[in-house]
Amino acid sequence: MREKIYYFNKGTKTLHIKGFCKNSDPYERIEYYTEQDAVKDNGRFIHMCEECEKEKEKIIYNEVKGRSEK
Ligand SMILES: [Zn+2]
Repeated sequence: MREKIYYFNKGTKTLHIKGFCKNSDPYERIEYYTEQDAVKDNGRFIHMCEECEKEKEKIIYNEVKGRSEK
């Protein structure tokens, strides 16, 4: 089962990913399954949290690296 891991902070218009940074659990939030869903709902005003983005890139990088090493 998929989880809604994208947390959109309505106050700061920032999109976080659950557990990726210390601000990733905002009180006033909307939860989404994907980044695309959040953008669809909130338009271009939304911006990705820098810390969460960095963590995401790290995970993607490790996944790709792991795959090519097999
Ligand atoms: Zn964040």
